[in-house]
Amino acid sequence: MFKIGCHLSASKGFTHMGKEAKSIGANTFQFFTRNPRGGKAKPIDEADIKSFLEFAKENNFAKILAHAPYTLNACSADAGIREFAYNTMKDDLMRMEHVPGNLYNFHPGSHVGQGIEKGIELIAEMLNNILTPDLTTTVLLETMAGKGSEVGSKFEELKAIIDRVELSDKLGVCLDTCHVNDGGYDVVGNLDGVLEEFDKVIGIKRLCAIHINDSKNPFASHKDRHEKIGDGSIGLDAFERIINHPQLKDLPFFLETPNELDGYAKEIELLKSLYKN
Ligand code: FE
Ligand code: FE
Ligand code: ZN
Repeated sequence: MFKIGCHLSASKGFTHMGKEAKSIGANTFQFFTRNPRGGKAKPIDEADIKSFLEFAKENNFAKILAHAPYTLNACSADAGIREFAYNTMKDDLMRMEHVPGNLYNFHPGSHVGQGIEKGIELIAEMLNNILTPDLTTTVLLETMAGKGSEVGSKFEELKAIIDRVELSDKLGVCLDTCHVNDGGYDVVGNLDGVLEEFDKVIGIKRLCAIHINDSKNPFASHKDRHEKIGDGSIGLDAFERIINHPQLKDLPFFLETPNELDGYAKEIELLKSLYKN
């Protein structure tokens, strides 16, 4: 089954997102747990969650993906910002247990001049303070483009974080095609090689989700600007290979392309037409 969805607004709740996803041909979706710049999350609506869980089951939905706010920086030099990251992720993961067994993705962080090593240490420390044995959500580290002082643009950095986390069975990786392209992994010319490298360094079993985005910038530009599928430097042929790759084709794919709902519907239709069951 092709698991495909896109980023949706969470403002009207889970059931609304489920129906919206279905209306554009999707069978999963991604959403922000709260305003992407941070702030308070909406209160949990038990009735909405109950009806969503039924809807998702009836419609054979794949796992959904919650995205942490961009402002969450576990390795800031500022203790107040690190505390915000801790409190936000802790609260997000508590809330995710109302929709058990799904995925939660976050940007590892920016070390803001403290160095990659220090960044890795602080990110792992936060995870060790948050993860609990009973957590049913898988927490995903997103592959980054390497903009500024971002941690996680190299597979080795993600692996180093995972290795320092006690309950590392709770962790996985979300691979963003725009980010890895911009980060210098050649998913266009050498997809097999990139996945071999991923397997060698991190272990392919950790790969739990794909952010499927084209890139406005060339290979290894370290920029991170998403483009519509087929309109960027990755191109449609590469996406056809990506969604059909034996090591990727059963994972959930999430579009984060610059689109409104109708644009997403078209991209989903296009990708479905290229997917070989
Ligand atoms: Fe992201
Ligand atoms: Fe992404
Ligand atoms: Zn991005």
